[in-house]
Amino acid sequence: ESLDKGLEKTKDNFFSKLGKAMIGKSKVDEEVLDELEEILITSDVGVETTLKIIKRIEERVSVDKYMNASELDRILKEEIAKLLSENNAQDVKSYFTATSAKPYVIMVVGVNGVGKTTTIGKLASQFHKAGNKVVLGAADTFRAAAVDQLILWGNRVGVPVISHGMNTDPASVAYDAVREGVARNADVVIIDTAGRLHTKVNLMNELSKIKKVMQKVIPDAPHEILLVLDGSTGQNAFIQAKEFTRATEVNALAITKLDGTAKGGVVIGISDQFKIPVKYIGVGEKVEDLQIFNRQTFVESLFK
Ligand code: GDP
Repeated sequence: ESLDKGLEKTKDNFFSKLGKAMIGKSKVDEEVLDELEEILITSDVGVETTLKIIKRIEERVSVDKYMNASELDRILKEEIAKLLSENNAQDVKSYFTATSAKPYVIMVVGVNGVGKTTTIGKLASQFHKAGNKVVLGAADTFRAAAVDQLILWGNRVGVPVISHGMNTDPASVAYDAVREGVARNADVVIIDTAGRLHTKVNLMNELSKIKKVMQKVIPDAPHEILLVLDGSTGQNAFIQAKEFTRATEVNALAITKLDGTAKGGVVIGISDQFKIPVKYIGVGEKVEDLQIFNRQTFVESLFK
């Protein structure tokens, strides 16, 4: 369960610069803090979260005036872990085991291309492998490719995919998928949705309609609204998080493609800024490259 490979670029390009910031210095001064601020911002931690981290470091430096490089590393690691824990209170310990509701309904949202369908396929596979009965709903009915791709994943994993084809009513697909989940006594129902952001009102209406029809079958569904973000898109991921959290009650994040980017700091910034736990991270194309986010492993990987 090592993340080293997946986060190599982030680690190499940015967090390793940390050591250099302290070269020739015997203590953490204004210059070192400026450098640190720059490193965090260029790794896409985001300005707001960066300033928060710098302020906390400053406070600790003012107490420990002769802090050296390795101590700076340690407290930075501590502060980032603390920040992540504030938003990820319940680190999921075991992989894809039984959940509280049955079926546990996950509605997956996010714009096209972020890895939404792939993430659903990987989730289905991992839930299935862990012994859960899974039903998928292909409610991204605006793209033929999305429906086809989900059916492909369903066949590969060996789980049913409820689909009415392209251009059909997404809410009706969601309704049938949840009903099928109940009928089959499924543990998990995962619903794909269209990733269109053309207008805010439209997105909001579409998602709320899908939610409403699910609730005719299961009043407290969806139990999870999972927003998928592409970690390599930096500030765009922040913008999408803003749009989707305004449109619906996102309560979990999946941040993908961290293996291809040096900007993995986005995980820290987005979780802090939106106060939503990062539940999954994608660090590659393979099924097992979708991992349950563990803040300790994540922070350790950045500083190793
Ligand atoms: P969608 O349009 O949001 O449904 O996106 P897709 O699921 O079709 O994914 C777009 C591309 O991103 C595909 O080629 C995926 O294989 C790739 N992808 C998804 N997640 C990851 C990841 O964590 N790492 C890498 N390297 N590629 C990923």
